[in-house]
Amino acid sequence: MQGTVYKSTGSQYIVRTDDGQQFTCRIKGKFRIQGIKSTNPIAVGDVVRFDTETIGDETIGIINEIEDRKNYIIRKSVKLSKQTHIIAANIDQVFLLITLNNPKTYTIFIDRFLVTSEAYDIPAVLLFNKVDTYDEEEMLEAKYLADLYRKIGYTCIGISAKTGKNVDQVQQLMEGKTSMFSGHSGVGKSTLINFLEPQLNLKTEEISEQHLQGQHTTTFAEMYDLSFGGRIIDTPGIKGFGIVDMDKDEIGDYFPELFRLKEGCKFNNCLHLDEPKCAVKQALEEDEVSWSRYRSYLQMITNEEDSYRIDNYAE
Ligand code: GDP
Ligand code: ZN
Repeated sequence: MQGTVYKSTGSQYIVRTDDGQQFTCRIKGKFRIQGIKSTNPIAVGDVVRFDTETIGDETIGIINEIEDRKNYIIRKSVKLSKQTHIIAANIDQVFLLITLNNPKTYTIFIDRFLVTSEAYDIPAVLLFNKVDTYDEEEMLEAKYLADLYRKIGYTCIGISAKTGKNVDQVQQLMEGKTSMFSGHSGVGKSTLINFLEPQLNLKTEEISEQHLQGQHTTTFAEMYDLSFGGRIIDTPGIKGFGIVDMDKDEIGDYFPELFRLKEGCKFNNCLHLDEPKCAVKQALEEDEVSWSRYRSYLQMITNEEDSYRIDNYAE
């Protein structure tokens, strides 16, 4: 049988088949796991094959194969000497909630997030939330930012999770896909998810109650089916988007507009700093590349300590 992992609690996995049957599964023996070494062999979102075994009146699944992942996000534990934990796999899109005040989302944060999502190969959508509270100046700022990121190729929507403005557009994007939500604490993630799917909130509450009873499931992601089709991955205890290791000369490739210009640079290893005949510098002069994006890029490549580790936690 084949199914998707909706929840993992260390040694057990809740797997749902396409026709809606649910099985509790375990892994039997060893089988080759693609790619990286991690503390968990299987993560939420993984597509697995399994056999069923019935003991008494209990049927359990025995997982014997994982499908290749189209992408996955990880977390590295500093305490556990940088061991890698796979948070979730096969994510179709991530929504980044941005607010201009209460709290303020800075462009460096947005750009770091987008670089990480590019590196992870997960399409990102920018949601400017709380538009019901924006004054004229903030409206202009939101429009300016939305235009800037649209030009690069990102979908941007101004929404209000409170009044429901444009939330239907978010829902349309989510239909039939597996989505995640990210952003600073207080930007309105819970409010938006609650507006989209009021029932989901109940489930989340049930889970927090379990936490109070001392369950140790806090850092495990969980996936939920949406009533309008599609799925959402909730990552309690993980407010951000994980960490990606990357080299300094790789970072520019995750700024799509810089990457597109790169082949016009004289040197093919151009870092777009002070090299002669740099197409990026040229585009900056002509306002074809935004200075705010370039500043973020500079900050990311010149921050030596951090240049190999893009930390992208929301808090
Ligand atoms: P989270 O930490 O990202 O989950 O943020 P919450 O959903 O808890 O929202 C934080 C606060 O912002 C709450 O008081 C919400 O009522 C409020 N909020 C969320 N979205 C909106 C919105 O679109 N407009 C307004 N005015 N308030 C909002
Ligand atoms: Zn260059």
